Amino acid sequence: MTNVAVRTWAELKPARRSAIPEGLWLRCPSCGQMVYRRQMEANLHVCPECQHHFRISAGERVSQLSDPGTFEAMFTGLTSTDPLLFTDLKSYTERLVSEQRRSGRDDAVVAGRCFVKGRPTMMCCLDLTFMMGSMGCVVGETVTRTIESALEQRLPLVIVSCSGGARMQESGLSLMQMAKTSAALARFDDAGGLFISVLTDPTTGGVTASFAMLGDVILAEPKALIGFAGPRVIRQTIRQDLPDGFQRAEFLMQAGLVDRVVARKDLRTEIARLIDYAGG
Ligand SMILES: [Zn+2]
Repeated sequence: MTNVAVRTWAELKPARRSAIPEGLWLRCPSCGQMVYRRQMEANLHVCPECQHHFRISAGERVSQLSDPGTFEAMFTGLTSTDPLLFTDLKSYTERLVSEQRRSGRDDAVVAGRCFVKGRPTMMCCLDLTFMMGSMGCVVGETVTRTIESALEQRLPLVIVSCSGGARMQESGLSLMQMAKTSAALARFDDAGGLFISVLTDPTTGGVTASFAMLGDVILAEPKALIGFAGPRVIRQTIRQDLPDGFQRAEFLMQAGLVDRVVARKDLRTEIARLIDYAGG
């Protein structure tokens, strides 16, 4: 907690919350078709031609998965104190402020309590639009508080991951979040809690190596990139060509690392069904 501060400055106005570039039409990166934005958005940000799942922000994810009007945001106002005084092209503190102004978020995570088809649930969604959903102290703390709150309230836990991995600006402190979140999940598991982990494009690095792969049930969106290191690094390390579809959701399901690949339109129903299977 010492590396996390409660934000004190005035509310920031969001400039843009979407993970997708602006414009009336956009080209689907999968099938190359020009897609009418409104139609794509009405289709849960999925290409109507080829079912390509566009990346979405945490806000969009929450509104897709929770019952309308039921999401109560929790653990807001936390921001990193930049304990390492990290500077690359600009200081981490400046980078955080500009990301907060641009995204309207404190950090790369949204958490809270909601209903999923009438079932009370603790939900936490990482936000790719904020520093590539990277996990620093604030993300680690928020994920941990969500887990602990689910434990206290005896509620099922849903974490939707999308992340570039640990946040390099917080160096070793961000790596510690892997142990912290995993330890909280171990306590949650000991108490018999249900954790549904949802992996979306991309889930990589320290997030994959910690809470994302610790679900009682692990769901993934179609063709989501899921892995620890990138394919180029792996190819160079093992000096072998990698199979087709390597690190995609379907490949991981065949390898037993993912339980089910679920289309976005079915995700809410699937989560509600799993909660029922586990006895609420
Ligand atoms: Zn398409």
